Amino acid sequence: MKEYGAKLDLEKSQKPKLLKKAIQVAKSGDHTKKHLLGAVAIRKDGCIVSSTNAKVITPVPRMHAEIRALNKAGFGSTLYVAKVLKNGDIATAKPCKNCMVKIKNKGVKRVYYTISNNEYGVIVL
Ligand SMILES: [Zn+2]
Repeated sequence: MKEYGAKLDLEKSQKPKLLKKAIQVAKSGDHTKKHLLGAVAIRKDGCIVSSTNAKVITPVPRMHAEIRALNKAGFGSTLYVAKVLKNGDIATAKPCKNCMVKIKNKGVKRVYYTISNNEYGVIVL
């Protein structure tokens, strides 16, 4: 497993593109929560699926946005996770340990996640 960070530029040609969509998905979530989490997965066949966190946040990964998106995406997809704070700032959305186990089991090769307003991280599995 390899991990690195890169510059996030939401204004210009943003790489990776789907991280921007994950941010939009996060913002579409339940705003009564202290932060918003959104996940987008691109399936092997190119189909894009997305999910926010479930209403009740528990340590159980099945409730987490990334796993909910992966359940729709199936095996071997690419995952994008974004966290947006109440003030609109983008925060670290690195998947938790429990989710990482599921992510590996789902055959994901790459996870992109937001770190801050101008940085994102990549986990290469
Ligand atoms: Zn998690």
